[in-house]
Amino acid sequence: MNTYGNQRISLAHGSGGKLTHDLIKDCFLARFKNPILSELTDSAIVNLKGINLAFTTDSHVIKPLFYPGGDIGKLAVYGTVNDLAVVGAKPLYISCAYVIEEGFDGESLDRITRSLAEAARTAGVLVVTGDTKVVEHGKGDGIFINTSGIGVCNYTLPQNIEIGDKILINGSIGNHEIAIISARGELGLDVKIESDCAPLADLISHVLTASRRIKFMRDPTRGGLATTLNEIVTGKDFGILIEEKAIPIREEVRGACSLLGFDPLYLANEGKVVIIVGREDTSFVVDTMRAHPLGRETQIIGEVVESPKGRVCLRTEIGGTRIVDMPVGTLLPRIC
Ligand code: MG
Repeated sequence: MNTYGNQRISLAHGSGGKLTHDLIKDCFLARFKNPILSELTDSAIVNLKGINLAFTTDSHVIKPLFYPGGDIGKLAVYGTVNDLAVVGAKPLYISCAYVIEEGFDGESLDRITRSLAEAARTAGVLVVTGDTKVVEHGKGDGIFINTSGIGVCNYTLPQNIEIGDKILINGSIGNHEIAIISARGELGLDVKIESDCAPLADLISHVLTASRRIKFMRDPTRGGLATTLNEIVTGKDFGILIEEKAIPIREEVRGACSLLGFDPLYLANEGKVVIIVGREDTSFVVDTMRAHPLGRETQIIGEVVESPKGRVCLRTEIGGTRIVDMPVGTLLPRIC
């Protein structure tokens, strides 16, 4: 069987939306199929002599390399450690592989590397191995960075999501993607907003200490909140209902979205976590999150519902309900 032989890869295949999921399912999962990979969690959980290790990898191709609130070095660390943290792991070690374009300036390389090192210190991880490749001028775009990470799982998420469980998010959505669009100077957008790029492991460890009813966590990066919620419900016998008025969105992001015709639910974040918690523990977990610097704006944005099954619905501010689908195309490429 040759599922991709007659297709060409488009930018939308890298968007994290429906085409990315199709590519993973039809091309990669079809070839690599095994019980660990098939879980499709943010990190693989592998058991080594009785210890559960989380293992993940992420390539960073963001444009521009420097933007308000971060740069590719910081992103390369936080992108990977957050994928470890959301499966309940304590991030420990990362690798760092640079693909550099011939002619790239040493000053930028230094600045990116300093930032990456500082982010690793902040996140409490060591860069313990790496790789350097250089491609000819015009065959790359400055620099791409891949990081892989491992951590120890101190907690296994039960994933027994039930009707009535609450959906939480630790703050406003869309800041990262709007900051990137604005920094690129594309689409005529000039908004004073910083990326939310941040390491989530400390916030998450407080949450996991506070409650044994954390069912599921995911960082809504590419494809935004809408994609993450759809990933949770797809193929399941429950749905999710979110309340538009409860979702924290900065005025600047709201304004940029109405200007560009974007839906903030689909915008990328780099310092947000969606948490599903058992109803009984909700207020306690919300209080715990709000007491943490990265969780001050935590909101309960919705809940797990019986129907429609496998669907994400949004109750609008004026009281209507609409289905929130998995995105098909891409808003903008190379935002992470
Ligand atoms: Mg993730």
